[in-house]
Amino acid sequence: MSPWVWWVWALPVAAAAVWASVSGPPWAAAAAWAAVAVLVLAGLRERTWRRAMRRAAQQVRDGRPVEEDNPDVADLAAAVESRLRDLREGWEGARREADRLREVVDSLPWGVVLVDGRRRVVWMNHSAGTLLGVHREQAQDLSPVAIFRRHEVDDLLERAQQRGEATQDLEGGTVLRVTVRQLRSGGFVVVVQDVTSDRRAEAVRRDFVANVSHELRTPLASLRAMTETLRDGGLEDRQLATRFLDQMLQEVDRMSRLVNNLLDLSALEAGVVRLRWEELQVEALLEAVVRRYEPLASRKGVSLGVRSGGERVWGDRERLEQALGNLVDNAVKYTPPGGRVEVAAEIRGDEVHLVVDDTGPGIPAEHLPRVFERFYRADPARNRAEGGTGLGLAITKHVALAHGGRVEAANRPGGGARFELVLPSRARP
Ligand code: ADP
Repeated sequence: MSPWVWWVWALPVAAAAVWASVSGPPWAAAAAWAAVAVLVLAGLRERTWRRAMRRAAQQVRDGRPVEEDNPDVADLAAAVESRLRDLREGWEGARREADRLREVVDSLPWGVVLVDGRRRVVWMNHSAGTLLGVHREQAQDLSPVAIFRRHEVDDLLERAQQRGEATQDLEGGTVLRVTVRQLRSGGFVVVVQDVTSDRRAEAVRRDFVANVSHELRTPLASLRAMTETLRDGGLEDRQLATRFLDQMLQEVDRMSRLVNNLLDLSALEAGVVRLRWEELQVEALLEAVVRRYEPLASRKGVSLGVRSGGERVWGDRERLEQALGNLVDNAVKYTPPGGRVEVAAEIRGDEVHLVVDDTGPGIPAEHLPRVFERFYRADPARNRAEGGTGLGLAITKHVALAHGGRVEAANRPGGGARFELVLPSRARP
């Protein structure tokens, strides 16, 4: 009640008190004046109390501690403050929890998009922005189809609404696996994964099995044919028998080379090969490799030379000889008689380049980026005829990687191929 109400009531009572004082009995005047005093005091008390309440409310609103003499107001303010504190703590706890959850979802490698019941994007994490190539702020309130730029997403939402969850791989330059789950609270959560490399690995695995089977089937078929011919009377013909036995030996050698290369490559790829590190004289390394391939080169009429200074590298002698040997072997194999293969070492910056140049046909430009893949051949028929396993360059690449280096293939301007095995020249840490 406003204090004025008390004072307005006091006015007629005061008028009555005046009247009683003038013409009424004295007891009536005393009673009327007492009533006036009570009403005025009640008004004053009400005003003080109201002001105290207003001050306290302002202090609470300003977030200041309530300082009030009036014990009732102070009591009420303390109760309000304590409830406010509880609420504030609860709210801050909830906000911290929400922030933490957001941070966790934001650091996930998968894209996460929240879609509301109207099928509009509410929020997305950092990975979703990167995977979909959209700014998070701009995605808000857009339809999922607009941010995925794929109409299939509408279908997925529909299926998720009916069955609770739906998944589909969206094929394109990159393959995105999109899983939509309906939320109990309404709306959907959309999880996006980039499965391009998984798909590629799957394809490589499939190709690998197919390639190994093919590589083994061919020599096995010819071994079977020759064995059958020998069994069915071929042994009587001594000349034919000798030729077949030589060929059979070659096929067996080829298969064991393939198996050895496969074992080597899988060990290198799995990183289980322990390198025996030592400081090596590059000249001695190159000469050892060239010496091994000299008989093959001279049989083919290809000249083989070494050019090297006093470079040194750190590495595993046996593995480096194997890697470089594969390059020299190919160079001799693919260079026609009368050609030349040159092996050289050069220091460039803090790298040592072991270069193998040949005067062969070179490698068609479109095949260059892929020659280090397992079983990749620029000219399959010809390469198989040369007796290669199709794994030599893949092994060389992995030996280089294990040494912290790399291998590069190019065509020389004057014709022929150039392979470089690049190794860091610093000592192994
Ligand atoms: P392969 O056992 O078939 O030689 P590699 O892995 O050693 O397998 O080589 C892969 C392919 O790269 C070869 O099949 C060949 O087509 C090409 N190649 C490698 N070295 C040379 C070279 N010096 N000149 C021309 N082509 C080459």
